[in-house]
Amino acid sequence: MNRPALPPSALRLDQALQLLEHSGQAGLPGEPGSPAWLQGLIDALVELSSRDALTGLSNRRSFELALGREIDRVARSGEPALLLTMDIDHFKRVNDSYGHNAGDLVIKAVAGALLDCVRPMDLVARVGGEEFAIILPNCPSAFGETVAERVRRRVERMPVVVGPGQHIAVSVSIGGAFAPQWVRSTPALWVERADQQLYRAKALGRNVVQLEPAAVSLVSNDEKRLLFESTGFQDFE
Ligand code: GH3
Ligand code: MG
Ligand code: MG
Repeated sequence: MNRPALPPSALRLDQALQLLEHSGQAGLPGEPGSPAWLQGLIDALVELSSRDALTGLSNRRSFELALGREIDRVARSGEPALLLTMDIDHFKRVNDSYGHNAGDLVIKAVAGALLDCVRPMDLVARVGGEEFAIILPNCPSAFGETVAERVRRRVERMPVVVGPGQHIAVSVSIGGAFAPQWVRSTPALWVERADQQLYRAKALGRNVVQLEPAAVSLVSNDEKRLLFESTGFQDFE
């Protein structure tokens, strides 16, 4: 991005422009300093602060916002939505055996594989070091296992090139939980339920999918409390 000569202004924009330039952002629309140009600058900064720098996936911040929006949508429409959380198996060994740069290549390869497995409406996020999540709106419960298995197999079958003639096999463990329909949950409770399944997948030996059965009886007591607290009912436990 060519740094424009800005008209004198009270706004200090140098650092923002430097950040965008560093991230490879193309030019902004309109005359420097014009409303269209400033809006373009804000949009570009919003985009930058929503993305993970290593993989280009949504970052944890935009993932949490999207979870909140999806919970509202499910509660309004009753359409099922699935949250998958996943963690690369034995990732420390990759870093220890091949170095941190190889570890980064593995993280990028897994990110690409996840994007390949989902629909445009699904949101794929890097939520931690080697931890990812996928929000799948409007995902019928019968389809959950299929899509999670597709992701697991896609990663398993993808050798990652970490150096000349060096390929390594990678796997992920996957946990999943559906948003409770007609009940307003919270992002934290939904993630907790998916993560519980992820821990089970790890305990079962890794490279495994574990989904919570999509039954209303599995709505947690905290979630029931959210539904009933305004009614004064005490008999939901
Ligand atoms: P498990 O199968 O139980 O998940 O074993 P693990 O070895 O994968 O354990 P864990 O999930 O705790 O490992 C996380 C490791 O990821 C530790 C940390 O050094 C590494 N890590 C976190 N972020 C990055 C990163 O951005 N790049 C690289 N190369 N490594 C990272
Ligand atoms: Mg981890
Ligand atoms: Mg791990």
